[in-house]
Amino acid sequence: MQNIIIAIDGYSACGKSTTAKLVAEKLGFTYIDTGAMYRAVTLYFLEHYISLDNPKEVSKALTNIHLSFQKTASSTNADMFLNGLNVEDEIRKMYISDQVSQVSALKDVRVAMVDQQQRMGKKKAIVMDGRDIGTHVFPQAELKIFMTAEMEIRAGRRQQELLEKGQLVPLTDVIDNIRKRDAIDTTRKESPLTKAEDAILVDTSHLTIEEQVDIVLHYATEVVTAKIKG
Ligand code: C5P
Repeated sequence: MQNIIIAIDGYSACGKSTTAKLVAEKLGFTYIDTGAMYRAVTLYFLEHYISLDNPKEVSKALTNIHLSFQKTASSTNADMFLNGLNVEDEIRKMYISDQVSQVSALKDVRVAMVDQQQRMGKKKAIVMDGRDIGTHVFPQAELKIFMTAEMEIRAGRRQQELLEKGQLVPLTDVIDNIRKRDAIDTTRKESPLTKAEDAILVDTSHLTIEEQVDIVLHYATEVVTAKIKG
């Protein structure tokens, strides 16, 4: 497959990450989970009691944050490392989900993350998922997908994911968290979550993971074929 950028944006818990990981695996592309980056920054801010209302504190903290994706023996995909420590499990916990959208709404945080993401995508051959990839990080991406799904289905899937990681969270709490994140993510001033005009809308409510992957692969093949034909 010719090197292209595949941007997958959408609401929380629509199956973006699972789909993006599998698509990247099939194409031999690199998968970049930008949500993990915002989650890691949130973990750092919480651990260091950074006040979100204090821009100086925020920008100083950002200079002390070093993020990287690294493969480990126990993971099929790269794990998120924060200042040399594997934080993959920690950043998926509910206390991070409860704060991440507030942290992600800060301009300085976004500038720092987008800069890193653009550098990671320089060589193309990536599948990147997030909220602003097709609109802001890579507006020139060859393929843009925007995922959505019904709330009950999203919440059920997220609850199951948490359970598989040993966290039993009531469905009402999961729904509450998703609603709050959607609200902050779609209304923030800095690159809010919105569908890029040229993104393909995929409602995953009644799709299996395999179907979601097939849809993205289908469009990727179409894009590449059109590119070759010129
Ligand atoms: O993808 P995930 O649900 O892990 O993302 C966590 C949060 O990170 C989102 O709710 C959003 O606030 C933020 N985010 C963002 N921009 C991205 C990716 C994630 O603002 N590109």
